[in-house]
Amino acid sequence: MRTIQLVVSAVILEVVMMLPAANLAQSPVPANAPYKNASLSAEKRAADLLKRMTIEEKASMVAGSGWMESMPIPRLGIPAIKMADGPLGVRSWAGSSSITGLPGSPLKVQSTSFPSGVAMAATWDTELVQREGQAIAQEVKALGRDMILGPTVNINRVPLWGRNFEGYGEDPYLTARLGVAYVKGVQSEGVIPSVKHFAANNEEFERHRIDEQIDARTLHEIYLPAFKAAVEEGGAWTVMSAYNLVNGVHCAENNALLTGVLKNEFGFKGFVVSDWGSTYSTAPTVNAGMDLEMPGGQPAKNWLADPKLLERGNSGGWLTADKVLAEVKAGNITEATLDDNVGRILRVIFLSGIFDHPHAGGGEVNTPAQVAVALEAATKSIVLLKNDGHLLPLNAKKLHSISVIGPNAAVARTGGGGSSLVAPKYAIAPLDGIKKLVGSGVEVKYALGVGMEGEVPAKDTPEARAILLQEAVDAAAHADVAVVVVGRYDKIEHEGADLKTMDLPAGQDELIAAVERANPHTIVVLNTGNPVTMTRWIDRTSALVEMWYGGQEAGTALASILFGEANPSGKLPVSLPKEFKDSPAAANYPGENLHVNYAEGIYVGYRYYDTKNVEPQFPFGFGLSYTKFEYSDLKVTPLMLAKGAGHSGAVVSLTVQNTGKRAGAEIVQLYVHDGHSTIDRPSHELKGFKRVELKPGESQTVGFTLGRDALSYWSPDKKAWVAEPGTFEIQVGASSRDIRLKAPLELKK
Ligand code: BGC
Repeated sequence: MRTIQLVVSAVILEVVMMLPAANLAQSPVPANAPYKNASLSAEKRAADLLKRMTIEEKASMVAGSGWMESMPIPRLGIPAIKMADGPLGVRSWAGSSSITGLPGSPLKVQSTSFPSGVAMAATWDTELVQREGQAIAQEVKALGRDMILGPTVNINRVPLWGRNFEGYGEDPYLTARLGVAYVKGVQSEGVIPSVKHFAANNEEFERHRIDEQIDARTLHEIYLPAFKAAVEEGGAWTVMSAYNLVNGVHCAENNALLTGVLKNEFGFKGFVVSDWGSTYSTAPTVNAGMDLEMPGGQPAKNWLADPKLLERGNSGGWLTADKVLAEVKAGNITEATLDDNVGRILRVIFLSGIFDHPHAGGGEVNTPAQVAVALEAATKSIVLLKNDGHLLPLNAKKLHSISVIGPNAAVARTGGGGSSLVAPKYAIAPLDGIKKLVGSGVEVKYALGVGMEGEVPAKDTPEARAILLQEAVDAAAHADVAVVVVGRYDKIEHEGADLKTMDLPAGQDELIAAVERANPHTIVVLNTGNPVTMTRWIDRTSALVEMWYGGQEAGTALASILFGEANPSGKLPVSLPKEFKDSPAAANYPGENLHVNYAEGIYVGYRYYDTKNVEPQFPFGFGLSYTKFEYSDLKVTPLMLAKGAGHSGAVVSLTVQNTGKRAGAEIVQLYVHDGHSTIDRPSHELKGFKRVELKPGESQTVGFTLGRDALSYWSPDKKAWVAEPGTFEIQVGASSRDIRLKAPLELKK
């Protein structure tokens, strides 16, 4: 197993063998040592450097030196890799990183807060996500760090996962495209991303101990594609393992996943970093393919301070130099394995450029260019879900008064909680954004309506609550229009725990109903990462907007959408079920006795709703615009689809026209239906999408190229992707349930 794993080291070791036999590790390092030569390849430099390291130095590098830094070796000029949390902006602390995140840490540094992952996914804009990755990487460098802990590419399996806001939704293809874009953006700046959490971190419930039973097909079709793409197409430099167990083994020592899948199957050449405190052993972890344990310098103690985690022993502190050396001496870890681990870390240090050009810090963050990306993303992410009677867009010139109501109206709730929550220099709340946009010509009233669950208002008695609600009703009744902004916040949607319910927090359903009764011109705005139950009010609601957690610029973005300065173009990257019990994973969540069976298999999200005819509240891919788009002229041309053909695939084209009166953007989605397979397949699967900007009346030809992979399923028997000859159906539409055009595609034997 290890021989196959040593793909990188094979190259590195080959070069090592060519070096003089003298024990370089004992000799002083000459000024012209090859590893210092920036014109040599990263592999050659890593090989030369490895040869000069003592076994003690190597052993010291497989664990970090503190909370957020890898171990430096000053004798050889090897820098620490300085990390920062992400992925929704830079979350870092002033001062030494070794104490970040612990009580009493110095202040968080302020940086640009970008929209949450699910919001970025709602833009379906890979080019924008790449620019976001680049902007974040620039801030990483400006703050003197080298690595950003993201993107999060875990799939939204269950609507209650505490970290759904962080990921890119329920579809592996969409998630993969966006993950690749983020990685490319970050690496283009010489900053190291970390694609996380490998693999299948889909619930926070008992995240250190939950054991997920997932069959190989489901892993390959749903939970692994984004990692595969990030490695194969994005060339990702690092991957972070997950806390949970998959099929009985903790991810940090899961040989089948780390070595079998990631390093052998996907050809990953970077290093694997453990999630913080997810290790439980020394030799089994190193031998499984773990390259760097984080954080480092932690004795093997339960620093997560939760006695429940102790079942397997303490988490963290297992790859310290003394423990690793002892295992090498005992013959339980070979020196070749250690060389592989360290070689991978060194290679990334050279590839990223941080060896030759350390990130000094002291740069600017929150620059106009970075803020512009955050605002563009927040605007493009907003999804218009309902607009009966064309209540939206509002016209600031015709309005006299507007009431802005709700627990998410006056407070900027920028993101979910946990390691991704960024501290911005400022953040625009919906109320601020609306006030700024309408100016002095329109009276803007504000009412809280109901306190946010968990944020206890000064007086929380039934009488005080009734007064708050009445104030909201009065404000709504005496305004031309009411905007009620409801949702959750970082104390409800966060890392480390799942949501208890899909329902809105206490009192918010009642607030919506009361405001709608008081004013028929009510717009409901959701400020959430996870779906909410809408059944108690949706039938009476005429206008509904999902603004997600949109980062620091969300209030400005929302106002521009409400008042038509921007045309909504976001589409749902997740299906919104009517109720939690409708969700495919509901019956198999959170598991029993710390075991959860992914029994729904590949039927995640729309793959379930559309195949089993369960109607969601709003389907995957759905989103309205202030204009209309027509689809026509679908052409599907097979392109050497015969088996074994070098470039097999198909070329698909169609025309999209903006038939309305406003400029707008449509997200065209391509799904493949396989009606002839010998194995169960979902009714259709997303295999392409394009965001098309069109002026009124304008039309454009949209093209897609499909490869065999777009037609394939993962065969558990063959342990490979298989495209079965026969007739497929190419479907093009505006959501998974709004297919506008269909055409056959013949795959020949
Ligand atoms: C999270 C990671 C994060 C790490 C470091 C962990 O608890 O799961 O996503 O990057 O902490 O803060």
